[in-house]
Amino acid sequence: MTTTSEQLQQVCARIEKACTVAGRDPATVRLLAVSKTFGPEVVREAVAAGQRAFGENYVQEGLDKIATLIDLRSQLEWHCIGPLQSNKTRPVAEQFDWVHTVDRLKIAQRLSQQRPAALPPLQVCLQVNIDGGPNKSGVAPDEALALAREMAALPQIMLRGLMAIPEPQPDAAAERAVFGRVAALAARLRDALGLPLDTLSMGMSADLESAIAAGSTMVRVGTAIFGGRARASGTALAPICGQITGI
Ligand SMILES: *Cc1c(COP(=O)(O)O)cnc(C)c1O
Repeated sequence: MTTTSEQLQQVCARIEKACTVAGRDPATVRLLAVSKTFGPEVVREAVAAGQRAFGENYVQEGLDKIATLIDLRSQLEWHCIGPLQSNKTRPVAEQFDWVHTVDRLKIAQRLSQQRPAALPPLQVCLQVNIDGGPNKSGVAPDEALALAREMAALPQIMLRGLMAIPEPQPDAAAERAVFGRVAALAARLRDALGLPLDTLSMGMSADLESAIAAGSTMVRVGTAIFGGRARASGTALAPICGQITGI
């Protein structure tokens, strides 16, 4: 049986190899372990193996896990990576460290207003629908600059960069091309806004090498660390940050 710790090591080795191939320093790529649908004890195993950043898609599931693992809270970084509905922003603003899926000004405003003043600003990525895929989350690329400008002006969130979930591509070259468009858009926003925008949240279990080749700084990996997710429709999990989007 392969343990979480062994799988984590394998994913880290994949990241390092992809960085070598791309001529990048592995320290520039962070691993976000996507623990959605897995219990807190599995997160604990990953923490024991050295992992610190975890991604959750479903608000209630994430909040429950954060509460159960409260003894580890100061060591961990919790990232909301699911679509976020406006009636769910408050607990997310209060409990999470990052939100990757901001694609509307209203959500950004609420997160900023609801972020407790005693906490550091919520770290956020603007989600872009880079390929116009049927996944409706994410702004169109030509709307990204206007939204990014307004997000950057909000006091209690810090815009860190872009997040994308491209549609599956036929091969690695096509994957790199799509991820490359996200990187190019981030570069345009950086120039236009004069902000560092140091984060490109892209790449998952199946395509992290292509994402790293194109400049990803944070890969979001679930299956390759924790195994397959058995999830029927209509399970008891309430959408945390909204509904699942074709994952
Ligand atoms: C589930 C999910 C992932 C992880 O996907 P895997 O293919 O299991 O690695 C990454 N990003 C988002 C937004 C997800 O919902």
